[in-house]
Amino acid sequence: MNTPLDHPSAGTDPILSCEGLRKTYRLGRIPVPVLEEATVEVHEGEWLAILGASGSGKSTLLHILGGLDHPDRDGGAVSYRGETVSNLRGSDLNSYRNGDIGFVFQFYHLLPELSVLENAMLPCLVPGRWLAASLPLASATLGAIACGLAGWFFGDVALPAADDATPARLAVVALTWGVVGAALGVLAFQLLQVVAERTRLRVGARARESRRTLEEFGLGHRLQHRPSQLSGGERQRTAIARALANSPKVLLADEPTGNLDAHTGREILELLKIRHDAGLTIAMVTHDPKVAAYADRVIRIEDGRVLATER
Ligand code: ADP
Ligand code: MG
Repeated sequence: MNTPLDHPSAGTDPILSCEGLRKTYRLGRIPVPVLEEATVEVHEGEWLAILGASGSGKSTLLHILGGLDHPDRDGGAVSYRGETVSNLRGSDLNSYRNGDIGFVFQFYHLLPELSVLENAMLPCLVPGRWLAASLPLASATLGAIACGLAGWFFGDVALPAADDATPARLAVVALTWGVVGAALGVLAFQLLQVVAERTRLRVGARARESRRTLEEFGLGHRLQHRPSQLSGGERQRTAIARALANSPKVLLADEPTGNLDAHTGREILELLKIRHDAGLTIAMVTHDPKVAAYADRVIRIEDGRVLATER
């Protein structure tokens, strides 16, 4: 048994940590405490295993570390590179969990209607905050202006022959055409987005990168297959490629081999080891000491508390 101070990175600031974390679920009116004062530090470049029995709160802890769930109010905080992230909301939270963190789940969580390549690229398909908000607005405005001007200058063709093209009548036509123009602008934007997305999927730099990762993971011949056509190991390799798509700093893995036979599980761990040796920081929860043995450092969670560290 070692204390946390035995870790080679002790003394340096952890890349990801939580302190005094508390999480209580509620079953009707009955509180079910799951985490009580859980404190964990993940140091840059290490592979940390969090070992614990089923139901001990491992997934809850990992979800809170990765921003997929929140601790109780006043229930401690999660810090990433010294910044508190457990209070992030909205697009800041999305950017943390989509950009800084990669997540691998026991049951893969692939989208069945997407191909292997599309699944692996999924985190790259989330547009930036600015683009997502401003482009539809800009295309609606452009559509409204273009059609409004057309209504003002050529609106007389829409008027009954008996009506004079007075400024008031032309203004009504311009306004009507402007509203239609705004709707057409949004529609055109959505069509363009679909075309751009497909092009990005085929030839963009991200597509090349995802394709390369999938090929490295032995899935080069599976790119256009659906998850249902893959074995468990292939699904998990696809999920790992997805978790790595945005080059996260920390990979959080929740029992990544828990649904696989021993041989396939070892293949997945070897694949993680290659990435870890290349510098990837990993925090992995497991109930299996054999799986935890791949890590540089093991901590144990019991009754919602992080008990001690061991190598
Ligand atoms: P582990 O991953 O170690 O198996 P979990 O973190 O999934 O444990 O769950 C810890 C405890 O919290 C379990 O007793 C589980 O039943 C309970 N739990 C998990 N999620 C919820 C939830 N959404 N609502 C109520 N109880 C939950
Ligand atoms: Mg779990």
